[in-house]
Amino acid sequence: MDIGDVFGQVDSHARRMALGAEGKGQGAGKFVVLVIKCAACKRKLWKYDKIGQGEVLRCHKDRITRMYEVKEEEGKVKCLCGKDVGIDKGSHIKMIGKAFTYTGTKRNS
Ligand SMILES: [Zn+2]
Repeated sequence: MDIGDVFGQVDSHARRMALGAEGKGQGAGKFVVLVIKCAACKRKLWKYDKIGQGEVLRCHKDRITRMYEVKEEEGKVKCLCGKDVGIDKGSHIKMIGKAFTYTGTKRNS
């Protein structure tokens, strides 16, 4: 069976994640889905597929699975409340410590 059939109904990002996980021999349990929130107003900013444990220091854009409303001004990523939460570095967002919080859910599979 072609793997494309298996993941045909899933969006391309999820498919890429699944294929990547297999390719690197990593267990799916190592992926954590985080909801990044503004520390000041608790607004949801985006969802992020994190690999492994540890602090969130940067968010790679190709692993952001959903963007909520954020502003980008002068290379900074801002919450709608006006707080800077990160700096746009092109392929990733460098996160500003203490400007954001997150909640994580380990992916069950
Ligand atoms: Zn905010």
